Amino acid sequence: MTAPALGKGATTLRSATQPGKHRRREHAQPRTAEQVAGAQERRANRWSRRAQLRRISRLKRIKYCGHTMNPEAGVTLGVIENRDGTRSAAYGGLKTCGSVWCCPVCAAKIATRRADDLATVVRAVDGLGGSAFLLTLTMRHERGDRLGLTSEQRARRNRLEERLADVQVAEANGWDVDERQAEADAIELDSLKAQEGCWDVLSYAWQRVTSGSSWQEDSERFGGLLGWARAVEVTDGDNGWHVHLHVLLCFREEVSADLARAALGLRLFGRWRRALERKGFSASEEHGWDLRRAQLGDGDLADYFTKMAHEVTGGHRKEGRARGGRTPMQVLADAVETYEESAMARWWEWEAASDGRRQLTWSTGRRDLRALAGLGREASDEEIAEEDEDADVRLTLPADVWRLLDASGRACAVLAAAERGGIDAASAWLGAHGLEWGHAAGCSPPTGR
Ligand SMILES: [Zn+2]
Repeated sequence: MTAPALGKGATTLRSATQPGKHRRREHAQPRTAEQVAGAQERRANRWSRRAQLRRISRLKRIKYCGHTMNPEAGVTLGVIENRDGTRSAAYGGLKTCGSVWCCPVCAAKIATRRADDLATVVRAVDGLGGSAFLLTLTMRHERGDRLGLTSEQRARRNRLEERLADVQVAEANGWDVDERQAEADAIELDSLKAQEGCWDVLSYAWQRVTSGSSWQEDSERFGGLLGWARAVEVTDGDNGWHVHLHVLLCFREEVSADLARAALGLRLFGRWRRALERKGFSASEEHGWDLRRAQLGDGDLADYFTKMAHEVTGGHRKEGRARGGRTPMQVLADAVETYEESAMARWWEWEAASDGRRQLTWSTGRRDLRALAGLGREASDEEIAEEDEDADVRLTLPADVWRLLDASGRACAVLAAAERGGIDAASAWLGAHGLEWGHAAGCSPPTGR
């Protein structure tokens, strides 16, 4: 190819487009100018909140989220024309943390995808003439204000449990056992279990809800259970952390909400509560559960993820608190806006306990809702965060220009310029600010500069 046209003082960059998957996001309906502006503002809020988070986070990968993947290659800026006539712009070649619980930028991207998937599932169930319900289960805890073990503690607990199970097998077979080691392991395991919080018993309790003969009966109701999807939500309330489960339950037949509540809700909740009580937790019969008909786009699980993706991370204190307490993003806002000791400690506790946990889980096997809806393999949080947006045209930014844009909080301003006036407007913006840029190989060069 011929030497690329360069912007003001631009340098040619080696790696123009980044390898990896590209994805084009289609908007269901044409977006208005206000909607586009709103989305741009939310994105700018998420990016500036991430910049604040990177200064206080104790998780290494969060500190590097948004840094260049290859410092020598710099980054690319891509723009696509959407079918509704608007444009979308995004950077490529940046590291992502994929933290669904902590990073405002990655979490929004992941939540958007989960919302799309869940909406597709509910549409498929509707299409089959079935019905979908949203079950919410909550818990109280009486073991102090603990959220849960850290990922290292969970790994250690699992290792100790495995080792002690091996000891039992050995003893049953009359083999030699290192009794002192086994005793030390048992003591360590007990002490770890005493530190467990509400999040640690959640999987156990849900597993008890969805097993046994009662569950078999429940899943044969209403023409048969097609499957479930389970999302975890945590808020920080006056009495400590609140952990909730939101579960999408899909059945083959059309069923009324009243019938489902009467026939199903209490039974599911009963198993949930008994499982919690076995672990020293409890749930209130009055407030511990809810089961309602899930309407597509209105209070269903997809809607919950859409709201999560839209959560504006600024100025929340003027607004009321969410039911059940502060969302994690509000905990973060309090930490980075006040730097108060207790607010910081709360955030670090959140980071440590949430790290490595799953937000969304699906039933599998013959209850595979993703297969039912024709969705492919589920991408992991990290994979979704890593995906570059598809682009019609791209330009390249040297690494030092990227660092300057990032450090000065203007990275989103360039995206917004590109969305308003295309790649030419982005290069004009960069030129006006004395910043270098170049053309990406394989993309048509911008014209009219
Ligand atoms: Zn991130």
